[in-house]
Amino acid sequence: MPVFKFKTISAIFVALAAGTLYLAIQDERFFYIYILLFLLWAGLVALGAFHIALGFFGSNISKLRTSKSEILLSFDDGPDPVYTLQILEILKKHQAKAVFFCIGRKILEHPHIIKQIVAEGHLIGNHTFSHEIKFTNLPLVYVKKELSQTENALTELGITSLKLFRPPFGVTNPTIVAAAKAMNLKIIGWSKRSLDTVLIDPEKILIRISNNIQAGDIILFHDTIPITPQVLDTFLQRTAQKGFSHDALETLKLELTK
Ligand SMILES: [Zn+2]
Repeated sequence: MPVFKFKTISAIFVALAAGTLYLAIQDERFFYIYILLFLLWAGLVALGAFHIALGFFGSNISKLRTSKSEILLSFDDGPDPVYTLQILEILKKHQAKAVFFCIGRKILEHPHIIKQIVAEGHLIGNHTFSHEIKFTNLPLVYVKKELSQTENALTELGITSLKLFRPPFGVTNPTIVAAAKAMNLKIIGWSKRSLDTVLIDPEKILIRISNNIQAGDIILFHDTIPITPQVLDTFLQRTAQKGFSHDALETLKLELTK
């Protein structure tokens, strides 16, 4: 059993805290150790919450296990009437396939783009209905509502959902993991984050995602900003030159069955 899991870490800290509190009865200096232990536990929980690839609260797919030289492209926060369409053109040019983690509210606004994404052989994933920052603090019933509204939006378009879910901001917690599990959604993280919403130099993004790229890497992009289509064409060219293919959807589907 991996040690860096929420339940394991918490069990270890509860045991240590109980022992420290007992000692604090005899020597109050142990109370400070108790406080330090609590802060350390809180720090580790925050680390786990913000680093989805660690799978701290439960397993997820953040990198594909593959023997092929392939990478998985993913685009979050669309569909967008400008940038999603530009990205689809570039993907078509390179015969690349991707997963688009879409926001339910935008699915309702642009159903024709969703249909185009699917018609061109890509997959749609759930990225909540509202994509609000408060999602990470919502109670279970509202987290489930955010997820089911998006699943319903896809069903109404006649799209069979593969039940892929990427949490907004990549933040997980026990409630989000429990909601995904209850709804049979598989959490998909990433192994390479382009930081395309932060960096303004296309070359810096390219270096970031191309350096030490490995088979099975899942790349996180956003289809909501102009810089992503700008870097995508070059990224696909450079990785193709290194021998990588950009169609790992079958490998992803296979992994979902495990
Ligand atoms: Zn997002």
